[in-house]
Amino acid sequence: MTLNNSDSFKMFDAIVIGGGPAGATCAYKIAANGHSVLLLEKGKFPRFHIGESMVPYLYKLFEMIDISDKIKEGGFVQKNGVEFLTGTTGDLRRQNFGNVAKGQTPFSYNLNRARFDKILLDHAKDTGAQVLEEADVKKLIFDGERLAGVQYQYQGCRHEARANFVVDASGRAGLIAKHFNLRKMNNKLQNVAVFQHYKDVVAENNPGVEGDVLFSCHEDGWLWGIPIETNVMSVGAVMPLSILKQSNPEEIFKAHCDRSPRIKSAIKSATPLFDKPKVELDFCYYSEQFTGPGYFIVGDAACFVDPVFSGGVFLSMLCGLKAAEAIHEIFEGKDDLEACQDFENLCKTGYDSYFRVVYSYYYEFNRDMNKMGLNLPGGFRFVLQTFAGDFWAERDQPVLSYLRSKKEWDTFEQPFERIYDCPIYPDTHYKAADPASFTPPEDFLESINTQTQTETQKAAVL
Ligand SMILES: Cc1cc2nc3c(=O)[nH]c(=O)nc-3n(C[C@H](O)[C@H](O)[C@H](O)COP(=O)(O)OP(=O)(O)OC[C@H]3O[C@@H](n4cnc5c(N)ncnc54)[C@H](O)[C@@H]3O)c2cc1C
Repeated sequence: MTLNNSDSFKMFDAIVIGGGPAGATCAYKIAANGHSVLLLEKGKFPRFHIGESMVPYLYKLFEMIDISDKIKEGGFVQKNGVEFLTGTTGDLRRQNFGNVAKGQTPFSYNLNRARFDKILLDHAKDTGAQVLEEADVKKLIFDGERLAGVQYQYQGCRHEARANFVVDASGRAGLIAKHFNLRKMNNKLQNVAVFQHYKDVVAENNPGVEGDVLFSCHEDGWLWGIPIETNVMSVGAVMPLSILKQSNPEEIFKAHCDRSPRIKSAIKSATPLFDKPKVELDFCYYSEQFTGPGYFIVGDAACFVDPVFSGGVFLSMLCGLKAAEAIHEIFEGKDDLEACQDFENLCKTGYDSYFRVVYSYYYEFNRDMNKMGLNLPGGFRFVLQTFAGDFWAERDQPVLSYLRSKKEWDTFEQPFERIYDCPIYPDTHYKAADPASFTPPEDFLESINTQTQTETQKAAVL
C-alpha cells in the first residue's frame, strides 16, 4: 500500500486514536490547552455503544470539560437513583442520589451513547481538535523505541501522521496494549452480557421513580433496565460465560428477563430495536502499564472492569482528561517521566479501587447490594461516596481502606503509588462536610411505596 504523499508526515502535538468518551475528552482538553491534535476514529458517529448508566461524579466532570450546557440541551434522562430488586419478591427498594454529600451533584444521567458520544466528539471538534471519522489506524510508527505516529486508512488511501505524543483511546481494540502485549485478562470476573433496546416502553408498566435505573439480581446473574430515552429502555443480562455457553443468546436473554417480574413488566408491550440481542464477551482486563515512550493509554484501551457499578465511562473520561493534562504539563516543562508517573498512579488508583468494589459485591456480599451498603466499614455515607465515584478517597476512608487491605484483590502486579486526592471533589467529601448535616437513612435501600410514588418522585427531583 502506498502512502498518500499530500498527507504523509503531518506533524501534531498529539494524535488520539479513537473518538469514544476517553478519546474525545482527551482531544478536547489537548485542544483547549492550545495544542494541535488529530483524532482518528474508525467509525461514523452517531454509532451504537453499550454503557449507558452513569455515576453521579460524572456530572462534575461534565462541568470540568465545559460540556454541561450541551448535555442539558441534549435532553438526556436524569437519573436520580437506582431501584434494586432481589429475587422474585417484587419488593421495590431504591438508593437515592439525593443522599450524596452536600456540595456534590445529587443526580446523574442515563446516556443514549449514540447521541452522547457524538455530542462529546463534536465538542472536541468545536474546541479545535482535527477529527477524522472513518479513519482506521492500522499501524504504529516508531522512532527508535519512541512511539512517534500512526498509519491510518482514510478515504481509500493509507496516510501517515506523526506527533510528540500518541494517546490510545481505541477502547477494547486496545492497539498499543496489544502491540506491547500489556493486556491481561481478569480471571476473577469472567462475565458476559446479552442486551437489547426496547422502544415504546409503556409508562404504566414502570411504577418506580422516573429516571431510576432498574437493577435486578438473581441466582446466576443480574439484569439492568436503563431508561435511555423517555420511552426507550436498554435491558441487559450479565452472567458467567459458562451459563451463556449452555444455550443461545436469544433463549438465555429471555430466560433471564423472565426471572425478574419487574424487568419483564418494564418491557411488556415494548418493541425490541435490534433483530437479536447483542452479546459482549471477555470484558474484564487490565493493562500493567498505561504509559511508555511517546504514548498514553486511556479508558477501555487500558482497563475494563465489570459494569455492575456503572463506572466505565466516568473512569475513561477522567483518564482521557488526565492524559491531556499530563501532555500539557510536559509541553510546559514538567519532566516527561514524572508527568507520566503521576498520570499512571492516578488512573491505577481509580481502576484498582473500582475493581475492589466489584469484587466485594460478587464475592464478599454474594451480590446483595443492601447487605453490602449496610456492612461495609464506615457505614452509609462512605459507601455512597464510593459508589458515586470517589475511587481516590483518603487513606483512612473506611470503605476503601478496608477494600484496599485485601492483598488478594490487588489489580496490578507491579506496585504503584496510590493517589489519595479525589480529582472530582477534592473538598466536598462527606468527611469534609459537617457530620451534623447528615442524617443516615435507616436502611441502605429505601422501600418504595408505589402508591405514594408521585411524592417520592417529587422529592427526588432537584
Ligand atoms: C456490557 C457492558 C455494559 C456496560 N455498562 C456500562 C454502564 O452502565 N456505565 C458505564 O459507565 N460504562 C459501562 N460500560 C463500559 C463503557 O461502555 C466503556 O467503559 C466506555 O465506552 C469506554 O470508553 P472509551 O472511550 O474508552 O472506549 P469506546 O467507547 O469503546 O471508544 C473507542 C473508540 O475507538 C474506536 N477505534 C477502535 N479501533 C480503532 C482504530 N483502529 N482506529 C481508529 N479508531 C478506533 C472505536 O470505533 C470506538 O469509537 C459497559 C460495558 C459493557 C461491555
